Amino acid sequence: MKILVINAGSSSLKYQLMDSVTGEVFSKGLCERIGIDGRITHRVPGRDNWVSDIPMPTHNEAISAVIEALTDAEHGVVKTVDEIDAIGHRVLHGGMAFTDSCIIDDACIAAIEKCIPLGPLHNPANLMGIRACQKLMPTKKQVAVFDTAFHMTMPPEAYIYAIPYEYYEKNDVRRYGFHGTSHRYISQRCLELLGRSENPEGTKIVTCHLGNGSSCAAIKDGKCVDTTMGLGPLAGLPMGTRCGDIDATIIEYLMGIYGYDIKEMLNILNKKSGVLGISGVSSDFRDLAAAAYEGNERATLALDKFNYEVKKVIGEYAAAMGGVDAIVFTAGVGENSPVLREKMTSGLEFMGVELDKEKNANCHGEELISTENSKVKVYVIPTNEELMIAMDTARLVGEN
Ligand code: ADP
Repeated sequence: MKILVINAGSSSLKYQLMDSVTGEVFSKGLCERIGIDGRITHRVPGRDNWVSDIPMPTHNEAISAVIEALTDAEHGVVKTVDEIDAIGHRVLHGGMAFTDSCIIDDACIAAIEKCIPLGPLHNPANLMGIRACQKLMPTKKQVAVFDTAFHMTMPPEAYIYAIPYEYYEKNDVRRYGFHGTSHRYISQRCLELLGRSENPEGTKIVTCHLGNGSSCAAIKDGKCVDTTMGLGPLAGLPMGTRCGDIDATIIEYLMGIYGYDIKEMLNILNKKSGVLGISGVSSDFRDLAAAAYEGNERATLALDKFNYEVKKVIGEYAAAMGGVDAIVFTAGVGENSPVLREKMTSGLEFMGVELDKEKNANCHGEELISTENSKVKVYVIPTNEELMIAMDTARLVGEN
């Protein structure tokens, strides 16, 4: 099936037209500055990028620009929208309502709306993308694929917070976790590589999605049993600009000293913390590596902190699952930084992790980077969230 995958943000919208079986990408692109002015960058493999400034006061004009680009006589890849079989949307927060992807109908939209308090920045934008597609392509089936859904198999001891239970019962406060589509994709791919996709019972995998946003997950029997992000994506590992887990006392302490209100405080924790906050240099791991190489001590400290926390989580999840068969690295840092992969796994020899330094250094794309004797297999598996969204969309539309 030809699936249009949409990831709508508040002022930007990414799209990809792809084959849900082969994974072939016919075209992908980005609408930016929605609500400000508007620009589309449209990419077709083997052709020059096409960039055009098109007014986009709302997501409707952005989707309209996507349709025009995809069907354009010169830059397009299909003759008419009829060639698009269905549309898959990335949706951030599915709360407790969604344990799988879902055909978009009124009940699904109402449930996504109900989750807005849990994902106040993303869910409204995701809904704008959905509504624009409904308006402009009313006959197309649409599917919502949630970042949280894969993590809904966590047991209570992993998802409950140690605060009064009524906040869970009355207000849905619990660990949800994010990057679920990525953790699902790489864990399923890892099971295939282990030859266990048909019988995942007994398998134990730690997946590490390390990019600008980062999270790890513990995958037992092919199902998520724990993950580092929480009610929102600020929790867990330190990230590009997000603080990850911190002592909640810090919030009151700093608000008291500097007179910040809660919005200013959260802005600091979301946008000015993480490896950017420690280093003062950049949130980009390539910049940090360059600065550390030049002798910048805080850049080195930021990288050390990141590596340390990832390593600690791998150990935690091995304990939680009673062992580990495979560790998988993915996303910008996980796929591209042999140095960090080596640092994150060094010292884990006691639990049977033995990295093949040469394979690790020369890894491009999907590869096993542990030694033959390593009890724990270490893989790099490039993530493909869009393919997972396209596959879910095709599956649900096929069933419907
Ligand atoms: P996002 O969460 O925005 O999708 P990505 O998964 O694309 O992020 O990851 C972006 C991060 O990956 C950036 O910090 C970037 O510096 C880092 N990265 C990309 N290539 C490399 C590399 N070769 N070495 C180290 N870090 C890299």
